[in-house]
Amino acid sequence: MPSETSTLERWHFSAAILLPVVLALGVTAAATFGFVLWSTAGIDQRALERQANMIHEVMDARQDQLIHELGSVAIWDDSVINTRLMFNFNWVNTNLGAWPQEFFGHDQTVVLDGTNLPLYLMRDGISQDVEAGAGPSGPVQLLVDRLRALPHTPATPGTSHKPLALADYAVVDGIPSLIAAMTLVSDTGAIVQSPGTEPLIAAVQYLDDAAAAELAREYLFEQGRFSLSRTDDPDRAVYPIFSSAGRFIAFFEWNRDRPGLMLLRQTGPVLAAAFIMAAVLVFLLLRKLRHSSAALEAERREAEYQAAHDLLTGLPNRTSFDAELARALADQPRKAAGLALLMLDVDRFKQVNDTLGHQAGDELIRAVGQRIRSIVGPGVTIARLGGDEFVMLIVERDHGMTTALASRIIEAIGQPFDLNRFKAHVGASIGIVHAGAGNAEAQELMRKADIALYEAKAGGRNRAVVYEEHMNELLQLQHTIEAELREALQRDDQLSVVFQPLVDQQTRKVIGAECLARWHHPKYGQISPARFIPVAENTGLIEALGEFVLRRACELGATAPGRTIAVNISPTQLRNPRFSSQVFDILSQTGMRPVDLELEITESILLDNEHLSGQNLRAFRSAGIHIALDDFGTGYSSLSYLKLYPVDRIKIDRSFVSQLADGHVSVAITQAIVSLAHAMDLAVTAEGVETDGQATILGQLGCNTLQGFLFSGGVPADQITTMFADKANAFEPESPEVVSA
Ligand code: C2E
Ligand code: MG
Ligand code: MG
Repeated sequence: MPSETSTLERWHFSAAILLPVVLALGVTAAATFGFVLWSTAGIDQRALERQANMIHEVMDARQDQLIHELGSVAIWDDSVINTRLMFNFNWVNTNLGAWPQEFFGHDQTVVLDGTNLPLYLMRDGISQDVEAGAGPSGPVQLLVDRLRALPHTPATPGTSHKPLALADYAVVDGIPSLIAAMTLVSDTGAIVQSPGTEPLIAAVQYLDDAAAAELAREYLFEQGRFSLSRTDDPDRAVYPIFSSAGRFIAFFEWNRDRPGLMLLRQTGPVLAAAFIMAAVLVFLLLRKLRHSSAALEAERREAEYQAAHDLLTGLPNRTSFDAELARALADQPRKAAGLALLMLDVDRFKQVNDTLGHQAGDELIRAVGQRIRSIVGPGVTIARLGGDEFVMLIVERDHGMTTALASRIIEAIGQPFDLNRFKAHVGASIGIVHAGAGNAEAQELMRKADIALYEAKAGGRNRAVVYEEHMNELLQLQHTIEAELREALQRDDQLSVVFQPLVDQQTRKVIGAECLARWHHPKYGQISPARFIPVAENTGLIEALGEFVLRRACELGATAPGRTIAVNISPTQLRNPRFSSQVFDILSQTGMRPVDLELEITESILLDNEHLSGQNLRAFRSAGIHIALDDFGTGYSSLSYLKLYPVDRIKIDRSFVSQLADGHVSVAITQAIVSLAHAMDLAVTAEGVETDGQATILGQLGCNTLQGFLFSGGVPADQITTMFADKANAFEPESPEVVSA
């Protein structure tokens, strides 16, 4: 297959299959990747929201927890006693300062009396000298003031007194912190204080790295820390902390929890590998598909080629020729050039096939195809219709060009063919039809070319005949000829018999006549026996026709004793077992002498093994009837057959006679035939003598009798009777009287 085609095929394949598959793969990959990204981003976002909620809750809980821690020392009789009733530094330092610092990690603790005077102050584990003016830092003081402003719950003796408490976020000494304050109350209700006079305790817990580490540990905020500036690291989450008054205190930031990203990191490579595997698989499948579809395509092409071509010659076959013809005819009106159809039949192909074998026949057909191609060139469509029939479609400038081309083809095919082991001589008959106005239907053109071919064959083969309308009529007639002939046999106004004189070569006197059937059809005029005799033979009408002719011949023969009256006999008649008795009946009915009757048979009867033909022939010969072998030279021309069925005369066919000229090879052949015939004691008649030259040569060769238009064609009975009666009637070579048949 040419590489151009396969490139085109590959392109087609890429466009039709590869591109959509790659596109689909790409779109699927993009959609999957996009979806995974979208859903992991969603997961991450939800995780962030969850953590932000959690830190919010945690920061709120931190305030409650600090109040709760303060509660563990503030709601206690001992605290009230050691601060309000009698200030005990050591006790306060141990229980309200050191212990919460150690146990809860409070960074500052301050104890104030009912009038908000500082009683005790501890910072980072060290008690400060309140006497020297150390007091709570501003934000703590503010919280204390807010606490003092809260409405009091009236104290009830004997019950525990509910403390007041507040917590908030604030920046204490420049450090973001959680602060809380709580009034000191009795846990037993033993000490009753009037509302607003309770001492109180406040605590500060720095939001420092230690607090952040604790948060991180407890609530899994990875790398959590407090800072004053917002980080721009996208992997870190940030939660801003505000005081209850809405003042910014600090940011809490931590490494974002990203389960989506983690999922993506874990599943991504697997997904990608799966996708690559799928892509490779699809690619392999596609490759296989491409190979198998290429194989299928090649098979389809091969099948298409075989369906459109003749396998023996490689030429297009009938189907593709029909299509080509239809196309050319459809295009024709747009083109200036005309179209012609040439139908060719190889003459004598059957003989080559029968004698040299089918292989030689095949070789011959191939060679004929090549020879036609070499003559017509590459532009002409040639097809083999089957058997030995070819057809050509010619684009012609004028009719003359096509006729000349046909002659060249005939000449080329007339040259000997060198087959593998043999040499074959064949010829070609060609029927031509020109497409034109009213002649542009494909089937009709083929039929007409066929008719013209039939005419070419009927006209003697090895020739080209251009279709004419009357040929069609004749062919039509062929179909109806049987019915017409049957009718003609019933009537007496259409069929007749003419007599063609037989002339003695030496004396040129009429020594007899050959009876020839004639049919004058009221519509088609004269119809040649060459047309209706085969039909009569095939349909059995030959019996009636033969009897008609024989009766006329015998009627004449009875009037001219001593003259030979020749009658043509068909093989079908001769095979009839009653034929001889029929002939004898007619002879006796008409009164003709058997010795004056000559029956003309053809060589095919000699090949006929049928016993009946032989019996009839022997019966005739023993009765004195003569037998002549007609058309000698056109069939097998085997003299050895003559021994089997002895005949009295041979009639050399007019195709030999017409070629007779000084120095021509047919002279030698005719000479040989005459010599052999004479050697076997057979008389020789030459038919179809048309010229003096032929008559002279035939005379020199020793031919006994001559017949032909040079002397006369077939004439009616009365005319031949006149010729017989005329004693001096002799055809002089100088003044031939030619009568048309
Ligand atoms: P055939 O028996 O060979 O008859 C001779 C044919 O050659 C006749 O054609 C005759 O008209 C023609 N002919 C005679 N002289 C010349 C000549 O100088 N030049 C040319 N070109 N032709 C000449 P026709 O009458 O057309 O008969 C054709 C064939 O039909 C006969 O060939 C014969 O085989 C057959 N035929 C004719 N009549 C009968 C018949 O009654 N019965 C049978 N079975 N066959 C017949
Ligand atoms: Mg004859
Ligand atoms: Mg003949």
